[in-house]
Amino acid sequence: MAEPSRFQDSGYVNWLKAGQSLICTAEGIYAFCDVAIRNYHLALHQKFPRQPCDGPCQEQSLCPSCLARHQEWEQDILSQLTPGSDPGQTNPGKPLWEREAWEIAEVFMRPSHESFRAGGGDTISLVQLVTNCRLFASSIANRQSFVDVTAIRRNLFQSTDFKLTNTELKDHIKAMVTLLEDPTQLKNDARATQAVQQLHQVKEN
Ligand SMILES: [Zn+2]
Repeated sequence: MAEPSRFQDSGYVNWLKAGQSLICTAEGIYAFCDVAIRNYHLALHQKFPRQPCDGPCQEQSLCPSCLARHQEWEQDILSQLTPGSDPGQTNPGKPLWEREAWEIAEVFMRPSHESFRAGGGDTISLVQLVTNCRLFASSIANRQSFVDVTAIRRNLFQSTDFKLTNTELKDHIKAMVTLLEDPTQLKNDARATQAVQQLHQVKEN
């Protein structure tokens, strides 16, 4: 007799749905994060404009003029760390900061293999960015909802049986909806609203 399919196990299907919901949540907050990071990148360029290069100068070996400017960038970026946060990055993308806004974002995330430049990113890194970076302090009313989603993600990935009850799935989706409906900005964000609709579909299907 054939083994019953895992997809007939409602607990396992719920676990998969929770994972899918986390992906929807990441998609829902990506644009919100992207705007904030790009605006900050632009502000850094304006605040610390390029000085004549003493040359020869390479990304890994800067001339004194470029190095001084780079240190100003570094000081400003590190001052945006939320007090008490420790994303654990040691040398995050430094040579690429000037060219690539998302290299700055990675200062606030734990090391990840995901590429944010491509416009993607995993939920946990984006949530870390929002909670670890002070740029978001005024655009998020309910920081706890981000902490809650971090815990959900951790529990899902550390699960020993890869199963969730209907109630657990419902509660997890509710927490993600709370995050996506944060009243300061996300509530009026088109991508976040779309993600909320997707989460309701996941819950009902
Ligand atoms: Zn230089």
